[in-house]
Amino acid sequence: MSHDNLIDGRSIAEELHRETAARVEALGVRGVQPGLAFVRVGEDPASQVYVGMKEKMSARLGIRSQTHVLPGDTAEAELLTLIERLNGDPAIHGILVQAPLPDQIEARKVYSTISPAKDVDGFHPVNMGRLLLGDTTGFVPCTPAGVHELLIRSGVNIQGAEVVILGRGNIVGKPMAAALIQKARHADATVTVCHSRTRDLAAHCRRADIVIAAMGVPQFVTAEMIQPGAVVIDVGVNRITDPSAPRGHRLVGDVDFAAVQPLAGRITPNPGGVGPMTIAVLMQNTVRAAESAVDGRGR
Ligand code: NAP
Repeated sequence: MSHDNLIDGRSIAEELHRETAARVEALGVRGVQPGLAFVRVGEDPASQVYVGMKEKMSARLGIRSQTHVLPGDTAEAELLTLIERLNGDPAIHGILVQAPLPDQIEARKVYSTISPAKDVDGFHPVNMGRLLLGDTTGFVPCTPAGVHELLIRSGVNIQGAEVVILGRGNIVGKPMAAALIQKARHADATVTVCHSRTRDLAAHCRRADIVIAAMGVPQFVTAEMIQPGAVVIDVGVNRITDPSAPRGHRLVGDVDFAAVQPLAGRITPNPGGVGPMTIAVLMQNTVRAAESAVDGRGR
């Protein structure tokens, strides 16, 4: 199997990390260390892993992080009070509340409480609005921003391209579409967003130059759905049972990689594609938040 067409998310993320580390150093010269606060509610195992990875990367890049772990039965008001406190803490430049949140807490309220200037996850309505309006001063959610960066840095032509996004979630699909439809350099795509009510999803996919799969359905995208030469980006993270795996399960994406890779023009591996980029953009957003705070450009 040839690997010539792989989009190596790990090495592109490293490129971003090098740039971020240089910016952290430049801030250090000005006497500022970027500070990032993680908030986790309950003991969701995946959230523990994700926050752990982000903590490690923060430390590696010289970003000071702190993690607040609240019990699963925490009242919404208590979480909002913590966020308000972090909003007012000058040593904290970015705040990330790890999803999923327990049922008694309304995620929308939580994201709206984070100061837009510290909203490094980009979920505050002000930042979502800026993204839609093409105002580049806001924060773009990390996963779609990471996918966008992957496309740009891999030299994929986006301008005028037919892009099909599978999934209209608030975290990936919707902001991804908003980023790629902008009248701007590295955007200007013609975007179709498919979801569970789309009539003939495969037909949309087959005419796409770029397919971005963000549904959360294991190996949904098959070879029959892809036009030869298309660029395929697999955002999905799905746990499937596999008795032969050491823990009895393994992670797969939304794309049937083995079947699609031979005919794709470019394709992301999964893992090793979008995941590392998500963390890289989070770190980049945090440094940008710190730079803005230092320059007195709080958003
Ligand atoms: P979400 O909010 O649950 O959205 C899923 C979308 O997929 C919905 O729009 C849904 O349609 C659509 N969908 C589900 N099953 C479908 C089907 N059989 N046919 C057509 N459409 C279908 O998910 P999300 O938060 O955006 O995340 C999407 C995926 O990305 C997940 O696998 C998640 O784990 C992954 N993810 C990865 C990263 C990373 O760093 N790699 C980060 C974030 C998310 P309806 O709207 O009609 O229900």
